[in-house]
Amino acid sequence: MIKFIKITGEIYFFLFTIKEFLNTLMLILTYAIMFQNKTAFRYYLEGFQHLIFPNLCLQCQQEMSRHEKYICMFCWDKLQRTYFESYLEPSAMDKLFWGRCQIQETFALYFFEKEKPIQEVLHALKYGFKAPLGHYFGAYMGKVISTKGKYDRVEALIPVPIHPQKEFFRGYNQSTALAEGLSSTLNIPVLTNIVKKKTNNASQTGKNRFLRWDNAMEQFGLTKQVLNYQHIAIVDDVITTGATIEAMVQLLRSKYPNLQISLISFAIAK
Ligand SMILES: [Zn+2]
Repeated sequence: MIKFIKITGEIYFFLFTIKEFLNTLMLILTYAIMFQNKTAFRYYLEGFQHLIFPNLCLQCQQEMSRHEKYICMFCWDKLQRTYFESYLEPSAMDKLFWGRCQIQETFALYFFEKEKPIQEVLHALKYGFKAPLGHYFGAYMGKVISTKGKYDRVEALIPVPIHPQKEFFRGYNQSTALAEGLSSTLNIPVLTNIVKKKTNNASQTGKNRFLRWDNAMEQFGLTKQVLNYQHIAIVDDVITTGATIEAMVQLLRSKYPNLQISLISFAIAK
C-alpha cells in the first residue's frame, strides 16, 4: 500500500511537471503570436479607444481620423509657418535681438497672432495637461531644423524655466516638453538644472519693454551646477518681446562669457 502511494506520487509529480512545461510553452507561444501581430493588436486596441474617447481636433473640435494627431489636417493648414529654416537673410527673429544680445542661430516654427488657431495650440501646450503635444511638436521642429544643418553645433538644450510651483500644478513645463521632443530628434541632452525661475511673476502684459526686461532679469537665477558646453540653445514656447530670452542670455553670459547661445521657439509674435 505504502509502495503504491509512493509510485502514484511520483507519477503525479511527473504529470504535473509535464503540465507546467506545456503551460509555459503555451504562454511563450501566445506572447510570440501577440508580438508578431503587434500592429494588428494595436490597431484593434486603438479602434476600441477611439470608440470610447473620440479623437477630437484641438482647434475645431471635429472628430479626426485615427491617423491624425492633436490637430486635424484643415487646422494644421491654418497655422502659419515661418519657414525661417530656409532664410538666407536675417529673419525678423534675428532682428528682434539686434543690439540687445548676441545670439548664434534663431528659429521659430510658427507665427503667433491672437485670435488665430495658433493661440489655442499654445494654450493647449501650456495648460491642457498635454506634455505629449510638446514632445510631438518638439520632435517635428527637430526634424525641420536638422535638414538645414544650422543647429549641428548645438550641444545641449536649455528650456525657459517656469516657477516650480507652477510646474507642479501644470504637471510639466511646456518648454521642457518641447525640448524633450527636440532632444529625441537632435540627440542632444536637455538641461533643466542650470537656470531656475526665482519668482512666480505676475503677467508681463501692460509693462513697457524696459520694465519687462528689468522684471525678467530678476526672475531667473543660475544654479551651482556647472555648464560644460560651448554652445547651447534656449528653448521657448512663444516669443513676444524677447525680454525673457534677453534676460536669460545676459544671465548665462554673466557666468559663461564665451558661451554660444542659439534659440529655438515654437512660435514668435508677428
Ligand atoms: Zn481641426
